[in-house]
This record gives sequence, structure tokens and C-alpha cells, in this order.
Amino acid sequence: MSRPSRITHLIAGQPWEGTAERTSEVFNPATGEVTGRLDLASADLVGEVVTGAKQAWADSWGNISLAKRTQVLFTFRELLNRDKEKIAALITAEHGKVLDDALGEVVRGLEVAEFACGIPSLLKGGYSENASTNIDVYSIRQSLGVVAVISPFNFPAMVPLWFVPVALACGNAVVIKPSEKDPSATIAVARLWTEAGLPDGVLSVVNGDKEAVDALLVHPDIKAVSFVGSTPIARYVYETGTAHGKRVQALGGAKNHMLVLPDADLDLAADAAINAGFGSAGERCMAISALIAVESIADELVAKITDRMGKLRTGDGTRGCDMGPLVTGVHRDKVASYVDAGAAAGADLVVDGRGAQVDADGDGFFLAPTLFDKVTTDMSIYTDEIFGPVLSVVRVASYDDGLELINANPYGNGTAIFTNDGGAARRFQNEVEVGMVGINVPVPVPVSYYSFGGWKNSLFGDTHAHGMEGVHFFTRGKVVTSRWLDPSHGGLNLGFPQND
Ligand code: NAD
Repeated sequence: MSRPSRITHLIAGQPWEGTAERTSEVFNPATGEVTGRLDLASADLVGEVVTGAKQAWADSWGNISLAKRTQVLFTFRELLNRDKEKIAALITAEHGKVLDDALGEVVRGLEVAEFACGIPSLLKGGYSENASTNIDVYSIRQSLGVVAVISPFNFPAMVPLWFVPVALACGNAVVIKPSEKDPSATIAVARLWTEAGLPDGVLSVVNGDKEAVDALLVHPDIKAVSFVGSTPIARYVYETGTAHGKRVQALGGAKNHMLVLPDADLDLAADAAINAGFGSAGERCMAISALIAVESIADELVAKITDRMGKLRTGDGTRGCDMGPLVTGVHRDKVASYVDAGAAAGADLVVDGRGAQVDADGDGFFLAPTLFDKVTTDMSIYTDEIFGPVLSVVRVASYDDGLELINANPYGNGTAIFTNDGGAARRFQNEVEVGMVGINVPVPVPVSYYSFGGWKNSLFGDTHAHGMEGVHFFTRGKVVTSRWLDPSHGGLNLGFPQND
């Protein structure tokens, strides 16, 4: 067993050289080994980084031309494309997801960098000549200053990439606080910005836990916070950040339902349920965890899913398996306790992933795909976000019952309907109270030029990630009303300005 390597902050483009008062362990989830020891930032260090970022914004990035900003963005895009396999390997080593899936995550992040390359066009304002006699009116959007990005463990590359390229493209400085469970991919991507020519200090990565997050949430020079994580922390971040005068978008947890109608293609639906239920070991905010089957096809659908589950290989993500481990031993045990609870509550445990054979060395954090049928809505496997490879089938009598169940759920991140009836699908897209909807698509993650975000307890704040909503989140609008020297100005008039 090799010694854990030190993982530290990236400040002004350089690894931090100080000595941390506190550290935490980073694991390889496939083997259970401790591979890294992570420096955790103190509140004082976070304060120093924010001050440096503010200076870098004021000295350089906040006023740099759009032409120069886009050169950095285009170069970054090329570098990320060059290094995508290396970044994917870092994700697999610390998160555990299989390599293909890790690469997919980097590529989806890359698409946001591509979107941000179009920033000159995205920031164009309006101009009305002669809005009133000899008066022109135009709108501009300006950067905010220093913004913070606080990310979860499950997408260490993609989630920071939802925000950072757009925030930088809009002219802000950024401080990222990645998950302490798998920070290396985030740090590796951040290094590419320096290589792309981003001035020192405009982007820094501080590692840490609650202490670092709290320091960002109360710092007067942090103007906006983009947070992604579980619902209780998202709510806390939103409430604390807004109480300290910040703009906050806090994306929270999820319980995503997939409704299968009797006329659906059941083979397509069974494949989709497997892919969306067990991809990334269910550790996706867009994972399907509740499969809502109309009773008349439920037996056939469960049989098809069970049959497919028999062919899945769970193991080390570097070995071509279908599914990897869970992120930590603590999390694996929590997911296993939900399986215990589901069985004890009387759900039908069709496939039990506890203690299954896996293709890995060492003592990794595995729990193989698990399927429950005949789950009822009072069971904890239905009510809670498990965030693991546990799929629960809930049987309903009709479309209306399925819709009612989805709309009664406190979360509203993603959902999907499987049907061959265009009218039913259209009704669903209109009636369902969820932010992202798939029609015969189980994981409807929007492309980068649309915006990502849920409803209800899946998002606190008004603005979704990337797309035009991202551009608006990271800028402030200003409208200028201008008149150039005209000797025939009207003299004094204390009335409210009217247009003539
Ligand atoms: P988490 O809430 O534990 O952690 C998220 C971030 O908050 C991390 O950076 C962490 O260090 C920090 N944090 C943790 N505890 C904190 C505390 N007490 N005070 C302040 N900060 C704290 O989430 P996670 O386990 O890393 O990620 C999984 C969760 O994220 C799931 O609930 C998942 O649904 C959600 N998620 C949501 C989306 C979305 O788009 N809605 C996307 C990805 C993940």
C-alpha cells in the first residue's frame, strides 16, 4: 500500500505551501485504500483567498476586453479536450464511477465551456436610438466581482464546469470549494485555466468542509454563491448566503420518478430504468430511483428489468465493469441500511445487492444493483433520497395516479414518462411539477445552452445553472439613458420624466 499523497489548495495558480491545521482522508472507493490526505482550509485562509481574488478582478479580469476573455475560454476548451481522459481517470480514482461514465461527465462539462465561448454574443445588450427626442437608451450587463462555487462529490468535474466557465466569461473572479471526498479532478481542471492564460488569482480552489463554506457564505466580498448538494445543506446555504446579502442559487437533492404507461415500449423502458437507476451507482441527482409502473404491465416490466440486472457487472471502475462502488464506506453502509429497512417494511426484494460478488481487489465500498417491487409511499426507500443503486417499483392504477404521486413529492428535479402516446406525453410535460422532463428519455439533463435546475426542494433561489440563466446569474443589468450635448435642452422641470 503506497503512502497517501498530499492534496492541497490551488491559490493564484499555485499549490498552497502552508501547513494545514486540519486534514481529511480521500479514498479509492474500489479498493478502500486511503490515497490522499486533503488540507482543509481555515476561515482565515478563505478570507485571504477572497481578498486576492477581489484584487485580481479589479486589476485585470473585471475590465479585460471580451476579445481577450474569449481567447482564454477557447484555449481552455482545447486544453480540457486534450486532458479529458486524464481528468476522467482522476474521477474514477476518487469517486469510483466507471471510466466511461467519468469521461461522459467531463464531456458534458466541456459543452458548458463551449457555450461560454459565445459570451460576446450572450452579453449583447439592447439599444434604442431616439427613445425620447434626442435621447438614446441601452442596456449593459456587468460582472459581479468575486463569486463562490461549492460543489458535491458526485460530479467533481461537471458540476464546477456548470458554473465556472460562465462566471469567468461574464468577467467575475471565482473561488471553488469542491467536495472534500474527491477534489483532485476539480483541481486538475482549475489548473488548465492557468495554462489557458487566466491571470493569477482570478480562479482559486480552497478545499474544506463546513468551516470553509461558512467563511464564503458570510464574506462581504463574495457577491454570489452557486451551490450544489443535498437539500438540507442547500437550504442552509441559501438562507445563510441571502441573509448576508448574496445572490444564491442552491441546487439540492432529488427523488426522480419514471412513469411507464401500458402502451410504452417495455424493452426500451427496462433498459432506461437500468441505465438511469444504476449508472454511477445511483449517485446522480438525475438518477431514477422510483419506477412508477401502471399495474397492467408491472409484472412484465419487473421481469424484464430483473433479467437485465443479472447481466450487470459490478466492480473496479477501471476494469470495464458496468457499475462501480459507492463513494465511501459510510455512504455504502447508509445505502445498505435502506435495503434492510425496505425488506423489513415488507417491500418485495427482487434483487438484493448486499454482499454480491464484485470484480475488484481489496475492500472497496460496493453494493450491487438492488431492485424492490411493490413499494408503498410510506416506506423510507420511497420517501428518502437514497443516492445509491436501489430502484423501487411503485405500482399505480393509472396515469392520473402516477402523476398525482409525482406531484405530491417534495422534490422536483427530474422525471420521465415512457409511452407511445403523444397526447399523454404532452399532457405530462404540461401537468408535471418538475424542472426537467424526459419523454422516453430517462436522464433528461439539458444541453448547455438550456439551463439545468429543479423545482421545489431541489432548488433554492430563482436561477438555474448555465444557459442564459447562468449568464444572468453572474451579471448585473444596467440601463443607460443618455443625451449628448444639445443646446435646446428644456431647462428646469421637476416633473417625472416623460418621453416625447
Ligand atoms: P453534501 O450536501 O453533503 O455536500 C455538498 C457540499 O456542501 C460539499 O462541498 C460539502 O463540503 C459541503 N457541506 C457538507 N456539509 C456541510 C455543512 N454542514 N455546512 C456547509 N457545507 C457543507 O452533498 P454530497 O453528498 O456531496 O452530494 C450529493 C447530494 O448532492 C445529493 O443530495 C444530490 O442529489 C445532490 N446533487 C444535486 C444536484 C442538482 O443539480 N440538484 C446535482 C448533483 C448533486
